[in-house]
Parts: sequence; C-alpha cells; structure tokens
Amino acid sequence: MMMARGWFGLKSSGIPESGAHSGASANRQPELRPCHRTASAEAMTRWPIPPPMARALELARQAAEAGEVPIGAVVVRDGVIVGEGHNRPRTDHDPTAHAEVQAIRAAAKALGNERLEHCELYVTLEPCAMCAGAIAHARIVRLYYAAPDPKGGAVEHGARVFDHPQCLHRPEVYSGMGEAEAADLLRAFFRARR
Ligand SMILES: [Zn+2]
Repeated sequence: MMMARGWFGLKSSGIPESGAHSGASANRQPELRPCHRTASAEAMTRWPIPPPMARALELARQAAEAGEVPIGAVVVRDGVIVGEGHNRPRTDHDPTAHAEVQAIRAAAKALGNERLEHCELYVTLEPCAMCAGAIAHARIVRLYYAAPDPKGGAVEHGARVFDHPQCLHRPEVYSGMGEAEAADLLRAFFRARR
C-alpha cells in the first residue's frame, strides 16, 4: 500500500480549497470543521512537529510575508536539510516556482545529482500534479505533506499522480503532521485578501 494517509490518523480538517499554489480561486469562505475532530485527535495535533516540517512551515510564513500563497518545502537527507524553498511564482514571474520545485532544485544543486535518492521531501500542502511529477523524477523516497488540498492536490486527490502505472517512481507518502498549522496559514492568507 503506497499511501499511508494520516500521520496521526487524522481525517481531513477541511482546509480552504486553495486552487493549488496560485490562489486563483481562493475567494470562498474556508469550511471550518474543528468539531469533527475527536478529543484524542485534538490532543495528537499538539504533538511536536518534526524539525523539517517546522522549517517548511516557517518557509510558508516567509512566502506569505512576500505576498505569495504560504507553502514551504524542504528536502532532507540523513536528517539534514539539503534544500528548501517557498512558493514564489509571483515574485519570479514563474508559474513553475512552487515550493517543492524550489526545494528539489536547491537539493539537487547542493548534492550535485539530479536524482535525490535517499532523500525525503516535507511540504506544507499536498503537492499539485506538476510537483508530484517533479518528486517522481527526483526519486524522492518519502513524501510528507501537512494539509490535504482537495482542489489542487494530485496525490490523494485529482490526478493521483503516484497511483498511475506510468509513474516511474512512487515515494512513500505520509500526511497530516503540521496539518492544522499549515491550514491556519492558508486560511489567514486568503482571509486577508478578501
Ligand atoms: Zn506544485
């Protein structure tokens, strides 16, 4: 089984449908469903967030400060961050400048290898189809993402890129760690822009 949905065994918390990283369709009121969480799930969300995901969340905050949709990503090898980045398509006038692509490019450059074997990628939002493709091309061994993205995501939603038989490499996938924090950042960002 490729998907290991729910790092903490949580169900989707109903984050805003961000329209992937562009924010193009972020004009709806996010659906907040905290009451659907069980008491034990609430307790589990207070578990310490692993340092790589904490760093990805910090990068997401930096993206928001730069006027970009708050999404951050880091690549880790042997417990060390070897590449990181945040969403910056508006800043760079580059539609491909998603957090995952930034982190993968930085890691590949740092390691001097276009294949990031033995590397893990942490990102604050479920990757889109483009980034899922980049993750496969990079041979990322494990993908951790914080919040699901029912509209723009392509791992457990939409295209489900890794589920296709044509997908050349399938990472292990874990989701949910830092989900509440990542979703809060997105909600605050889009609320401020209405
Ligand atoms: Zn993407």
